[in-house]
Amino acid sequence: MPKPTLWQIPEPGTDVLAALPAKTAVLAERLRHIAAGHQDVRLASSLAAEDMLLTDVIAAQALPISVFTLQTGRLNAETLALLAQVPQRYPQLAWAVYAPDAAAVAHYVQTHGENAFYHSVDLRRECCRIRKIEPLERALAGADAWLTGQRREQSPTREALPLAETDAARGMAKYNPIYDWTEAEVWAYVRTHDVPVNALYRQGYPSIGCEPCTRPVRLGEDIRAGRWWWESRDSKECGLHK
Ligand code: SF4
Repeated sequence: MPKPTLWQIPEPGTDVLAALPAKTAVLAERLRHIAAGHQDVRLASSLAAEDMLLTDVIAAQALPISVFTLQTGRLNAETLALLAQVPQRYPQLAWAVYAPDAAAVAHYVQTHGENAFYHSVDLRRECCRIRKIEPLERALAGADAWLTGQRREQSPTREALPLAETDAARGMAKYNPIYDWTEAEVWAYVRTHDVPVNALYRQGYPSIGCEPCTRPVRLGEDIRAGRWWWESRDSKECGLHK
């Protein structure tokens, strides 16, 4: 039986490439406007291509926006390699890395098992809470706005994503500056600007999370189908973006 074709990085068409400078200018203006409207804006970067694109524009425009990454302790070697590369590529950026509380991780592992997230949605969400949500609270402490690289096209749970939201739980603004970018546009930017990206994209991973919770995706599947693939489509969020 032939092996299924895996998702591949899209080749940008000439129409996408031609429209890219205007699209990028709109994005830069959005980011400038956001930065001007707040005291302390931070980009939550999972090191996805979308986040790397935003990082590249922030650095190119010398915008007063800092960047942070949540090092969950379960990331792929390829993701860690990119994390090590980023400060060299963007030395002008303030970049912080947040790890989970070691005691909370140890308690979860001792009580439920290291990979208990496969056993139920509740145990999966508890793992995400410890390794992502609690560190996110620390990463956002003191900020008055944060940015994400979410896009409408990414999944059914993001179809109505707006540019600007209110993060009521944290009492701050939240922005999705590339909410209206397509996958092809993101990759056109990455290629045109030689942005460093995770090597897993070339292995059929269009969306990359923790190593045990992410698998490659077949061509034609939802691009987030490889995230928590054992769960139903409507539970596939880690809680970072309620
Ligand atoms: S994605 Fe998986 S390993 Fe990572 S925090 Fe969530 S459940 Fe845990």
